[in-house]
Amino acid sequence: MDFHADYRMLINGQLVAGDARIEVVNPATGQVFATAPDCAEADLDEAVRAAQAAFPLWRATSLPERQAMLRAAGDLLRAHAAELAPLFTREQGRPLQGALGELEMSAQWFHSCADMAPPVHRKSAGEGQIAETVHVPLGVVCAISPWNFPVMLSVWKLAPALLAGNTIVLKPSPFTPLCMLKIGEILKDAFPAGVLNIVTGGDALGPLMTAHPGFAKVSFTGSTATGKQVLQSCGRQLKRVTLELGGNDAAIVLPDVDLDEVAIKIFMGSFYNSAQICVASKRLYVHEDIYEALRDRLVGLARALKVGNGEEADAVFGPVQNRRQFDRVQGLLERARAAGMTLIEGAKVPDNGGYFVPITIVDNPPEDAEVVVEEAFGPILPMMRFSDIDEVITRANASEYGLAGAVWSKDIEAATAIARRMETGTVWINQNLNLRPDVPFAGHKQSGFGVENGTEGLLEYMVPQTVYRPGSL
Ligand code: NAD
Repeated sequence: MDFHADYRMLINGQLVAGDARIEVVNPATGQVFATAPDCAEADLDEAVRAAQAAFPLWRATSLPERQAMLRAAGDLLRAHAAELAPLFTREQGRPLQGALGELEMSAQWFHSCADMAPPVHRKSAGEGQIAETVHVPLGVVCAISPWNFPVMLSVWKLAPALLAGNTIVLKPSPFTPLCMLKIGEILKDAFPAGVLNIVTGGDALGPLMTAHPGFAKVSFTGSTATGKQVLQSCGRQLKRVTLELGGNDAAIVLPDVDLDEVAIKIFMGSFYNSAQICVASKRLYVHEDIYEALRDRLVGLARALKVGNGEEADAVFGPVQNRRQFDRVQGLLERARAAGMTLIEGAKVPDNGGYFVPITIVDNPPEDAEVVVEEAFGPILPMMRFSDIDEVITRANASEYGLAGAVWSKDIEAATAIARRMETGTVWINQNLNLRPDVPFAGHKQSGFGVENGTEGLLEYMVPQTVYRPGSL
């Protein structure tokens, strides 16, 4: 298999080049380096038709058979992870080690997902009667994923949807289509033809998919603005929908922390993957007693760690992933500077046409500043002082988003009490970015609609079916 050419879609067990192409840019150079298929409406129809045709047999396979196929798919992905990593870096921008990490974690996700099973509930339903509730698959799932974790966030959908007995058509982001196309080639024979389909295309393809009457469910990860369009589109046919959307996560740092221990963890929780993580800490609230000490440590790290082409061994951070995001981040920085805020820049970045942005800490901006209120999704971290716990919780919760958050303290009970008052689906204490296949992940407020991961996430790909019958418990 050539990992650097010949990118084709997977439709009905066949690799399909399609007639038209979209260009794929390496964000570290700003140059086009490959093309991917631009799926035509007829090819999408064929993928949906194939998935519909494969559904009856796939749902009839036993759970242990489906679990075994998912594990085998994970093994195949792991076996090719090292070959895929350079391609991942070239299209996504993240340095090689992190690219490999995502690929290996995705392989493991297939395995962990395969260990799950939908629950069966039996209840007494009157004299000599029981009600037995099982969960049945929905049909064909439409999965749409973003560019920041292009493989893992696709596998978060593929693995549970297939385990549940659905068939699927997946569309990765037009900014990062290549790894998922190669993974389609790797997994071509891992499932019966039509069970797994992968299509790529430009901006028109997503809306075409969400409006397609052949899908029973849409699982979408991306921005809140797009999520609202997806929900509207799904509403027309009452398709089931799961939305994992944006976040503007707050981290609260109490004065009792050991700064030498936590500074690097807080730093990475904000800036890993050039801060393009839905659950990155994007607003850092630091107690006034340690504000300067933590700020100086974070600035020291920003100056010491290299931002560069992810193919270079010593690059810790890569570029911002695409031109659109780069322009957005530059705009936020320019307006913050123009408004007189103090911006502290980290290490110098290459000036080569790539989408590089220096790691930037905004020193105690006003609470209503654009850099605080908006999800930057780039390496800008607003850092604000606080003195009172109740007040900082109010500030943390004053967001339309509610994805995740973090609390840093040696007092675990106090930190837990704060965590429970945060209006988000996930809160980490003295850690961050820890997400697991067997633990539910749900955005509150405008960060989401529904759940991914855990049994709750699996059940989003199923509906309950109850049979009342004579019997006893
Ligand atoms: P995006 O909304 O621009 O695109 C996401 C996907 O939707 C892409 O595949 C895109 O092609 C497709 N799309 C675009 N318009 C569409 C439409 N009208 N109908 C259907 N599909 C459409 O988001 P992005 O810029 O790729 O990703 C960044 C955003 O994703 C950030 O806001 C980030 O916080 C969020 N995100 C959330 C999670 C989570 O789990 N909550 C995880 C990662 C990223």
